[in-house]
Amino acid sequence: MFKINILRKVAITTRKWVKLMILIFLSMLILIGLVVIFYNPTYEVSLNGEIIGFTSNKSTLQRRINEFTAEKKDENIAFVQIDAMPTYKLCLLKKDVETNDDEIFTKVTEDGTTYYKYYAITENKKEKFYLSTFKEAEKVIDELEKKDSANVEELGIIEKYGKELKEFTDTKKCVSKLYEKKIVKPKNIYSTPSASNYSSGLSSGKISLGISLINPTSGIITSRFGSNDSVRDHSHSGLDIAAPYGTAIKAAAAGTVTYSGNANDGYGYYIIVSHSNGVQTVYAHCSQLLVSKGEQVKQGQVIAKVGSTGNSTGNHLHFEVRKNGITYNPQNYVY
Ligand SMILES: [Zn+2]
Repeated sequence: MFKINILRKVAITTRKWVKLMILIFLSMLILIGLVVIFYNPTYEVSLNGEIIGFTSNKSTLQRRINEFTAEKKDENIAFVQIDAMPTYKLCLLKKDVETNDDEIFTKVTEDGTTYYKYYAITENKKEKFYLSTFKEAEKVIDELEKKDSANVEELGIIEKYGKELKEFTDTKKCVSKLYEKKIVKPKNIYSTPSASNYSSGLSSGKISLGISLINPTSGIITSRFGSNDSVRDHSHSGLDIAAPYGTAIKAAAAGTVTYSGNANDGYGYYIIVSHSNGVQTVYAHCSQLLVSKGEQVKQGQVIAKVGSTGNSTGNHLHFEVRKNGITYNPQNYVY
């Protein structure tokens, strides 16, 4: 009897508790419902610590700002950097609070700094010209390579970023301003160079010698100036005229013999005649030398005979024309 009483009491207490719990749960539900109906999750937006407005759509607003900074209104605009990004603080405000996304957007972006992207053509690491696109810069280098410009190795392209846009130069102007005529650097003609018998370079240019030359011998031209063949790994420094062994070689102009001998340098037996105006003529692979160093020679005077001494595969005269140490194409002056 007593036991049943206790059990009943426990049951009544439990039921009371359950009722209370349900009541609390329901009121919470109503409260949440009210919040949802009358309030809206809103973010307070600050910029540099100052409240600039409210937004109910934080992610859309921020995406808009991000897009603005990355947007390319011009192909030279790399990006826009804005001074400060807004910060967001969640707050529950009444629904009637006005959000001002547009105003926030303007405030955040109006002080943006535009960064431009463009390209510089460099010569020896110095910036020479600016171009809008990499493609254009590449075109300039390509053109100069095609034209065999002497400075191709020194040229480069660098990507530039800056707050200000440089003045661009069109590709044609860049090419013509950068082009440099090639003077081939001293690789010797056949083998190891020896002292001053060698020129300091080859030029494909045509200059005035200030003296006139005559053909040193008659024969067939077998290798032209500037050509490459299996015998050499570099440009040919002279003109090869094939002629029978012993054919007379004449001085192309009056002058002084400044070399006559065999220096074992590939030229075989050869002669260098120095003329006026810094002009020199060279006669190589001779079978016989008829003048010696220091001798004065007249134009047309027979000074040597055709042979195949030195680095030569047959009887021929290797003839060179130099001025001030640079070798020029003999065919600009003779033949
Ligand atoms: Zn030759």
